[in-house]
Amino acid sequence: MPDRLFPTLASGSGKEALRFGDTSLTYTDVATVAGTLARDLPPGRVAVWATPTVRTSVAVIAALLAGVPAIPLNPKIGERELAHILTDSEPVLVLAEPGADLPAGLADLPRRDIVLEGTPGDLPAEPDAEAPALIVYTSGTTGPPKGVVLPRRAISTTLDALEDAWEWTAGDVLVHGLPLFHVHGLILGILGPLRRGGSVRHLGRFSTEGVARELATGATMMFGVPTMYHRIAGEVGGDPALAEALRGARLLVSGSAALPVHDHQRITAATGQRVIERYGMTETLMNTSVRADGGRVPGTVGVPLDGVDLRLVDEAGKPVEELETVGEIQVRGPNLFTEYLNRPDATEAAFDDGWFRTGDMATRDAAGYVKIVGRKATDLIKSGGYKIGAGEIENALMEHPGVAEVAVTGEPDDDLGERIVAWVVPDGERPTESDLADHVSRLLSPHKRPRVVRYLEALPRNDMGKVMKRALG
Ligand code: ATP
Ligand code: MG
Repeated sequence: MPDRLFPTLASGSGKEALRFGDTSLTYTDVATVAGTLARDLPPGRVAVWATPTVRTSVAVIAALLAGVPAIPLNPKIGERELAHILTDSEPVLVLAEPGADLPAGLADLPRRDIVLEGTPGDLPAEPDAEAPALIVYTSGTTGPPKGVVLPRRAISTTLDALEDAWEWTAGDVLVHGLPLFHVHGLILGILGPLRRGGSVRHLGRFSTEGVARELATGATMMFGVPTMYHRIAGEVGGDPALAEALRGARLLVSGSAALPVHDHQRITAATGQRVIERYGMTETLMNTSVRADGGRVPGTVGVPLDGVDLRLVDEAGKPVEELETVGEIQVRGPNLFTEYLNRPDATEAAFDDGWFRTGDMATRDAAGYVKIVGRKATDLIKSGGYKIGAGEIENALMEHPGVAEVAVTGEPDDDLGERIVAWVVPDGERPTESDLADHVSRLLSPHKRPRVVRYLEALPRNDMGKVMKRALG
């Protein structure tokens, strides 16, 4: 059913919609400023230089109101990736902060400064729900980013399903510290609260002090990636103000990558809170979530959202009916993208008879809870005749006091097929290889122990904090 993406904008409410540092816009302000910009946008795709600011939010909302597809760009993007995206998506214009120093390539495009002034007027007529609304490039965790064409139907569907699962209301005030060029920070973090009529307080840059301050002064929920919860888990035990603030939150939500069980447990121990995990992708928006009223079992991403069909399939493409058995997640529903931009081959290959192949491997339990084991391409290790999920070993190693961060991969081995390699960032004194192997043997089983340990000062991560396993080895 087509519906207005922002029923709240026409309401003329004086309530705070967006706050970034000292800049605050009410719903009336957003409608005026974004409406003015929207009336002035030419047809054709527009690039948005997506700094974590109120202006970026306004620019994207303007494009959505105008029915002009917006391409949010990571302001830390490298030359090659930018060149690829510009050639691929051919924007006619770039929207940027006044004074923003744009890199070569973008600087050659016509530019429009995003200003926070405007004149009240009617909002443009609602664009077609199936037309491209956003083109968001994937995180590039497993290969070069792909341009995902998202219609507004997918956006409103996913936000409505999250409203249902999270009991999300206009009374919710979100603490936001994520970037605005991926679906997590942009669609869930900015468009979500605006669709509901709630408020966003963006930290500019994530800090645990910022989280504590906002939650202590009226914010009700936080969206974060696991690296943020890892920081919180490390500090919360020794920071009573942070613990108190988190205790008062209505909802702490984690996504974009797996939340280590050990971090979840440390947060629960210090605050009594159970973090809600949800699972989504650029291509599908949100697929599953733990529900606000449901059991919150660490290590699971909950149940399929309203309207989402989810199945697991084995290597032959046959649905997996048995419980606790690993299969690839496939999904279907109105939350899905339209296509990969300029990649009919990739779009076609991504679907199996109408089902989108996520490339993520998971199991399901009797209550329907989905547990992600890892990505098919990088997280499934075939060793000694076993299929072993990297995530389980990573979770076990995180429990070792000498491990600050870890990523597990497989590498070719003459005897085993693949051997398990642990890439470890030590916490203080370096734990020995045999110590770590014994730890995993004791907690899991001997065939899951790492055969090789490599020590690093930091894991290679992208801007969403996701470990780029292809950069290891
Ligand atoms: P690329 O497709 O370019 O390699 P990417 O897959 O990381 O990058 P995104 O679309 O941003 O790009 O991320 C989606 C992926 O993130 C999912 O396929 C899944 O592997 C992972 N993911 C998201 N949420 C969770 C979660 N809660 N637990 C585990 N993994 C998650
Ligand atoms: Mg992907």
